[in-house]
Amino acid sequence: MSAMQGGPDAQLNRERQRESLTKVLGARTAKQLAKLSLETVEDLLRHYPRRYGDPGQLTDISQLKVGEHVTVMAQVRTATIRTMRSRGGAMLQATVTDGAHTLQLTFFAKRAGVLRMHEDKLRPGRTGLFTGTVGEYRGSRQLTHPDYLIVGVDAADEDEAVLEASRPIPFYPAAASVPTWRIGRSVRTVLDPLPDDYFADPIPTFLLERHGHFPLIPSLRDVHIPDDSAAWKRGRARFVYEEALILQSALARRRVAHELLTSVARPRRADAMAAAFDARLPFPLTQGQREVGEQIATDLERNTPMMRLLQGDVGAGKTVVALRAMLQVVDAGGQAALLAPTEVLAAQHLVTLRALMGPLAEGGMLTGAADATRVTLLTGSQGSKARRAALAEAASGAAGIVVGTHALLSETVQFADLGLVVVDEQHRFGVEQRDELRARGNRPPHMLVMTATPIPRTVAMTVFGDLETSVLAEKPAGRAEIATHVVPADNQAWLTRAWSRIREEVEAGRRAYVVCARIDGDTATESDDSANDAPDVDGALLAADGSLDLENGTPASTSKTPLASVSDTAAMLGARPELAGIGIGVMHGRLSAEAKAEAMGRFASGETPVLVSTTVIEVGVDVPQATVMVVLDADNFGISQLHQLRGRVGRAGHDSLCLLISRAEEGSVAQERLQALAATTDGFALAETDLELRREGDVLGAAQSGGRNSLRLLRVVRDAKVIDAARIDARELVADDPELTAYPALAQAIESWLEPAREDYLERS
Ligand code: ADP
Ligand code: MG
Repeated sequence: MSAMQGGPDAQLNRERQRESLTKVLGARTAKQLAKLSLETVEDLLRHYPRRYGDPGQLTDISQLKVGEHVTVMAQVRTATIRTMRSRGGAMLQATVTDGAHTLQLTFFAKRAGVLRMHEDKLRPGRTGLFTGTVGEYRGSRQLTHPDYLIVGVDAADEDEAVLEASRPIPFYPAAASVPTWRIGRSVRTVLDPLPDDYFADPIPTFLLERHGHFPLIPSLRDVHIPDDSAAWKRGRARFVYEEALILQSALARRRVAHELLTSVARPRRADAMAAAFDARLPFPLTQGQREVGEQIATDLERNTPMMRLLQGDVGAGKTVVALRAMLQVVDAGGQAALLAPTEVLAAQHLVTLRALMGPLAEGGMLTGAADATRVTLLTGSQGSKARRAALAEAASGAAGIVVGTHALLSETVQFADLGLVVVDEQHRFGVEQRDELRARGNRPPHMLVMTATPIPRTVAMTVFGDLETSVLAEKPAGRAEIATHVVPADNQAWLTRAWSRIREEVEAGRRAYVVCARIDGDTATESDDSANDAPDVDGALLAADGSLDLENGTPASTSKTPLASVSDTAAMLGARPELAGIGIGVMHGRLSAEAKAEAMGRFASGETPVLVSTTVIEVGVDVPQATVMVVLDADNFGISQLHQLRGRVGRAGHDSLCLLISRAEEGSVAQERLQALAATTDGFALAETDLELRREGDVLGAAQSGGRNSLRLLRVVRDAKVIDAARIDARELVADDPELTAYPALAQAIESWLEPAREDYLERS
């Protein structure tokens, strides 16, 4: 079946794909298209329409907003030229209509003659596409000097005119200076003369047959020059599958390559720390913790490097699972590293691990257990003396467990025998870093990545397809209820009640977080901490898909009142009579590592039981007495982020409260997000809602055309079935032929997908 693949060989195929548009279309057109990053034949042909207009269907003019750049399909009603006595010169005014509403088109010129050309085309009754920025003049909306295409009139010949008037009209991601029909014309110029075997098809023939798809060139014609709506739907389905197949093949190859690596087996010992640790645990492990623990322990006993993703909702108890794995490795003579996304979390892990281990963490000290090791912290902003000491302990092997941030991956950190790397909060940790770790030394360490951000199955398959997955579904018993309420920011009575509630909780020995989007009055949102500069997994996926359905989109504007900042809010709360006499601490990413640790310490001890913070506390921070989480400007945060923040309370069996202060309008997507949060604490349900709502948000925010190497058509929720099928196909292909030598076009497609932009997308997850 393999040798049957038609088309040119890889070399020629690549040359044809990369042929410059300057050569094919001329310098002028090519220069325009370059504004959309379309430089080669392949770029242009892969620039798919984002939607299709029915030739008879006009745009609803009443929906146009002043200031938007739009493309409108409308019918000409009138067009008249006038000379302007006052200013001199001439003006053409046309009225176009969607049947119910009208839009003015205005053209100015020095002399009336120049406007005749427009008048001749804009004949009443004709239908056209008009593109420009919506303005307003004397109460009516208008386009000044719009670029336009009268359907059928500008066509090269009679045949084309008839086709243009009867076919679905492709709308391309366009730019103000390059209207959609100019792109369409260029595509047709390139595509029309191509024979059906001009390019090699990345989809193997037998897979085309299996799924009933058409080959590449006919499918390109289907999406760019569809005869009817069935054609473009069929074409799109093929390209959706193609994207899924390329992505899944890349992941399948990664898995196979991984299987060929060897690392050191770290067998369990019944007589050492891991066993002693289990014996001294103050609580019974949940069934999930035991089962996942067993999977991991078995993985570690093999000499193929473990690559496991552990998903467990906030508070599911992942740390203990990780620690048991680390102890197994240390018992077997190796070392383990625990990477946290922030220094706050790293410092906290150090404290937590030491507390859980007790004398087992006091290796080399008089108080230490017979079988004991040391747990060491290593972070980027540590003082040089502490850092030198930590580096020495890592290099000598005295530290069995080294806790740190990503700085731990730097070349200067040497381990005596690194056997396991645990990455906490995986959604901050990309494919490239995973590869970097695997490439370390000649024996790559085992790897366990943990995330509390619930990842819908389709996303897990798409982005983390190279990992085995374990799920901690249940939470330890005795978890408290967290009541979540959405509070309108202008409701003073509610806010006052919120501050009194904090006082009540504090008086009962509890703690409260107040989260703000910004650090101080001058700065934009918190961006100086590694926890905050990476978008959520789903954000990255959906921003990358690029193919949005709203030609007339402008980003939905968020509230205009400035967002609350940590410094202002701390001052405001300090002055509230309800909180008089209560210590208020502050926390944000710009504090030094020591200042952060001190702030967390004062909060945990109760010296400052109210902590005003940015989202640096978002992931993993564990202060059991915390029972109140107030998020200011909650409408500016995403679902998964709010879910994470909420996970900071209700951790020790005390019923807790989460207040989402919001300026979101009734019926807005932001409001829906907040209501979804108030309705459930089930992270997996929220993740699904999130993906669905983000779709909406995307459409409103539509601005971007898909970049060169982005996912253009594939959507992880909608296309779950296609992704499933492609995954089976990809594994089949790669199982027989890991290098895909029989399918050079597919191998080549994977390669060009994995060019920098593509990696960047995977990495942002
Ligand atoms: P996460 O999965 O969010 O990282 P943690 O590991 O921080 O959760 O665990 C949350 C809390 O639950 C910690 O205080 C931890 O000690 C506690 N915990 C973990 N496992 C159990 C268990 N089996 N029974 C009771 N409490 C547990
Ligand atoms: Mg955690």
